Amino acid sequence: MARRRVLDMVQPHLLGLDAYEAVDPPEALAARAGIPESEVVKLNANENPYGPSPKVAKALAEMRRIHLYPDPAQVAAREAVGRYVGLSQEHVVVGNGSDEIIDLLFRSLLAPGEAIVNAVPTFGMYAFSAQVCGGRTLPVERDARFALNVKATVDACNRPDVKAVIFASPNNPSGNATAPQDILRLLEADCLVIVDEAYVEFDARSVASLVPQHPNLVVLRTLSKWAGLAGLRVGYGLMAPELADVLMRAKPPYNISQAAETALLASLADVDTLNERAGRIIAERARLAGLLAGVPGVNPLPSEANFILARMPQGRGKVVYEGLARRGVFVRYYARGVLADYLRVSVGTPEQTDRLMAALAEAMED
Ligand code: PMP
Repeated sequence: MARRRVLDMVQPHLLGLDAYEAVDPPEALAARAGIPESEVVKLNANENPYGPSPKVAKALAEMRRIHLYPDPAQVAAREAVGRYVGLSQEHVVVGNGSDEIIDLLFRSLLAPGEAIVNAVPTFGMYAFSAQVCGGRTLPVERDARFALNVKATVDACNRPDVKAVIFASPNNPSGNATAPQDILRLLEADCLVIVDEAYVEFDARSVASLVPQHPNLVVLRTLSKWAGLAGLRVGYGLMAPELADVLMRAKPPYNISQAAETALLASLADVDTLNERAGRIIAERARLAGLLAGVPGVNPLPSEANFILARMPQGRGKVVYEGLARRGVFVRYYARGVLADYLRVSVGTPEQTDRLMAALAEAMED
């Protein structure tokens, strides 16, 4: 018998870790609302309501090498991503979701006690991942409209204990993008600048083309949103070849499954279909914003992503969220801090928007 308790062997910084608040699958939501799964309107995770390209299902059905390990060097995947973004493949690292690229970056960058700068409020994974890696986050508040506070962010980046700044553009959950000229200012700071473009295909401007000229720029992308592959887990990072090389060596060798790789290749061979669907989502975003703005007391923010952050009447965020959930409509609610009065709603199909708006009209009366 070992004398030490199991938890004495776990790293202290992980003992108090709160699990990431991830979304529940549709069957759990259906059980919560007491309705059949087919009636759930799931607008809480910015998933693509149109699903993947039809070429994905066909390519998955035709996979012939499931008994063999996938390619650890990601040759075909890196080449296809490189062609899609217009960069050579040595800039590309493919991950098990962009979440894995975030984790690999932080593991590669952060020694105990070192920090990343985090432009809050934002995607919770950045602070979570930094904590798991034994690092710290230095939060810099966004302004009242959730725009990046460039001066304060640059100042934070120049601190000697800071290795990187990470921010999403468009930002989750506020939907606003950071202007390329602001990103250029950040690139002058003495740290790595990680721009998470998970939602860029919904009409925002990308800085991916700047990667070759700026060795301290990293751009993250995902196939979860635009390509409808959230369930298969595939994303990628674009960065200086020498950093890509570190990540390629440090990653688990078979980090993208053959299914993920196959789906990535099929998606990037069907960009027109995916862009056409993104166009439908962009049009529906405008319609949804108009409908939300028409509800007394509800204030939707402009968005360049596939979701809208909307302010509810003061103190009513939780009640409206719960009222929607009881009616089978699931959105994202933030219990704490500046977002307590806000709900984030993913842009779904026109039918889902109609269900949401009907439920919202009722929930506002609860
Ligand atoms: N970045 C942002 C800003 C996100 O909102 C998300 C998903 N919610 C991700 C990254 C994670 O994407 P993936 O599914 O590729 O891990």
